[in-house]
Amino acid sequence: MSFERADGRAVDQLRPISFEAGIAPHATGSVLAAFGNTRVICGATIEDNVPGWMRAQNVSGGWLTAEYAMLPYSTHDRKRRDSSKGKVDGRSVEIQRLIGRALRAVVDLDKLGPRTLWIDCDVLQADGGTRTASITGAYVATQLAVQRLIDDGKLDENPLKDSIGAISVGILEGTALLDLCYVEDRDAEVDANIVMTGSGQFVEVQGSGEEATFSPDQLNELLGLASKGLKEIGSLQAESLREQLATD
Ligand code: UDP
Repeated sequence: MSFERADGRAVDQLRPISFEAGIAPHATGSVLAAFGNTRVICGATIEDNVPGWMRAQNVSGGWLTAEYAMLPYSTHDRKRRDSSKGKVDGRSVEIQRLIGRALRAVVDLDKLGPRTLWIDCDVLQADGGTRTASITGAYVATQLAVQRLIDDGKLDENPLKDSIGAISVGILEGTALLDLCYVEDRDAEVDANIVMTGSGQFVEVQGSGEEATFSPDQLNELLGLASKGLKEIGSLQAESLREQLATD
């Protein structure tokens, strides 16, 4: 089996993944999540308030919301900011909803108390898989933010029920690949983003054929690749958190 990938990786090999903690000191928790050349600043900021509609309707517990954007210089051709275009990018809205759903699957909002957890993902450098890097990094940033509140005596219990991570998979020239970089993503016949908890439950499976179709067997192969990658990602997240929390 020899499929030449653009960057020489094995078909089931992740790009080098790292989480640089504390990249945005004013966020309650933050990391720069890198999946190869894709790098995303993930900030988790916990505010001591909830949206007005929650107060008005006496909804207990906290709230979690996510925002995603690509910095203008994150792409090969400069991407204009939404603020200068005067309209919100539909792709960004779709991605930030995905990030919010992913994190809400593992955060117990009652245990968060009357607080809002803001997840901000800003792409510093884009080379495919920015949404999956965002989710994966946002989990690490959230865990750091929660630990800070626990250390400050503001929270008794960790509201995170499980870990969460995401990865892209796809089919290029008939071959199933893990963690696509931009050139692979651009040319792939099938492109999927998989979000899973650390305990191996799916939160989201988004897969689509690009002028192509895929069989149930191919879908299973992609899900198998994603599960393998996400187990590795879960270990990397845990390792990074162990290191970070030991040095605090
Ligand atoms: N991309 C870009 N400009 C854009 C949107 C995407 O250069 O406005 C590139 C970028 O490298 C991104 C890749 O295309 O990572 C794939 O984009 P997609 O919408 O599939 O999202 P992603 O894979 O980043 O989650």
